[in-house]
Amino acid sequence: GRRPLVAGNWKMNGLRSSIATVEAIRDGLSPQLLADIDVLICPPATLVSACVEAVKGSPIAIGGQNLHARPNGAFTGSISAEMFADLGASYVIVGHSERRAYHYETDDGVHAKALGARRAGLRGIICVGETMEERQQGRALDIVRAQLAIGIPKGATAEDTVIAYEPVWAIGSGRTPTPKEIAEVHASLREMLDKMAGTEGAKIRILYGGSVKPGNARELMAVENVDGALVGGASLVAEDFLGICRAY
Ligand code: 13P
Repeated sequence: GRRPLVAGNWKMNGLRSSIATVEAIRDGLSPQLLADIDVLICPPATLVSACVEAVKGSPIAIGGQNLHARPNGAFTGSISAEMFADLGASYVIVGHSERRAYHYETDDGVHAKALGARRAGLRGIICVGETMEERQQGRALDIVRAQLAIGIPKGATAEDTVIAYEPVWAIGSGRTPTPKEIAEVHASLREMLDKMAGTEGAKIRILYGGSVKPGNARELMAVENVDGALVGGASLVAEDFLGICRAY
């Protein structure tokens, strides 16, 4: 089986005082639980260093939320995979729907960034997901399959790649797809990964994200082919994030 991953995406939230949240998460995770699941926190880039420091000696991983595809150069304001790796980050989120919507990221751009993550030894969490309009038009599967096909680097392995299915309409809305709807998308993505990457593809994890809370985590994480969660709002509150981790 695939080892579950519970990942928190803090988005543009958190000041230095928020390191206390990371410490509370660290202290609230039992060794037994950490033996069974991977836990990741993706704070804003400004806090990556301090968060790495805060989880030193624990298996909790720290990641970035976005990256520039190139290793360095004249790209004012951008951060490369190498820079995140240099701080001790081990993951980076790629192609979040907020990046796609507000920063015009394309599937080709997502592909380039995923390659950048791999180049630097980071695990890329490639996000896919349909809008409500696309779902109502019956195009959800076509959309996420195209996003995955273009976004994922050739030869992707479980060591360098995680997929996250995040329906755009479920993010921050308190609404989630039904377990049946999630199962349908995850089965479709799983089939693609198996075809693309053979036995390696079978090991690549597919997370669900969008309004995951302590109260629904157990039900959502029990859906077939759901290998963990990508958590936004609830990852900002230690007790909520811990509650989701403990759904396992
Ligand atoms: P919420 O959990 O706040 O819905 O956000 C999900 C998300 O976008 C995680 O990347």
